[in-house]
Amino acid sequence: MREVLEAIEAVDWDDLPGPSDLYDPARAATGLRALATATGLVPAADAGSLLAGGGLVHDHSGTVFPAAVVAAPCLLAIARHGHPEAGATALGLFDDALAFATRDGSTRVATPYAEAVPICCALADHLRGGADLLAARGREGKRLLADAAEHWRFDVQEAVVEGEGVAAFGILAGRFPDGTPAAELHRAGRVAPLERVVLHYPPEVYGGSDACLSVDGVRPDELAPPAVLFPARCGPGPTAG
Ligand SMILES: [Zn+2]
Repeated sequence: MREVLEAIEAVDWDDLPGPSDLYDPARAATGLRALATATGLVPAADAGSLLAGGGLVHDHSGTVFPAAVVAAPCLLAIARHGHPEAGATALGLFDDALAFATRDGSTRVATPYAEAVPICCALADHLRGGADLLAARGREGKRLLADAAEHWRFDVQEAVVEGEGVAAFGILAGRFPDGTPAAELHRAGRVAPLERVVLHYPPEVYGGSDACLSVDGVRPDELAPPAVLFPARCGPGPTAG
């Protein structure tokens, strides 16, 4: 747990955005420290209340903060190495955070792969990173993974001309929905809408896998790597760029 505690100390929680009447940075840091070191049900529950009461989420108002994305690796580490009650609390917080984030539609966070990712999709990526852990956690873990899979992500590796549009080859994470969904195209700090995206060959349900998408009305250079696609339904429309 020493590494988790160091990771918590390394974050400037005061510096993270969040509504000032709801987000309480001190609760984020104190709650995470307490959850990482909890040795039973009562301390884990106390830590959980701090984190759910303004630290990472505000459960009464159904609000999730960018701090939840920053804390995601710590929550997974606590679920993996912490006391079982602390681990259960960590997954419960993840569950709340993803549910609130899915209804959010406006909060975006910077990630290593794109600059303004819908907060739900950023959380889902962290959950996929803990897929082995979650799959071993019975029904609750599998449900979290299934919820995360709705927030698919496609990383373009190659884009070539195909008729009036482009065929994009790359890695699909999560579950691409049936039909021809609208998407958000993230590239070089810009977000652009894509009206419809067609999946040519589907990968496995979980984890990353090769896939090919076809997109009309764009040029190959607009989809050139490192372009990343997310579901359009996760955001109200392009707000960054
Ligand atoms: Zn999403």
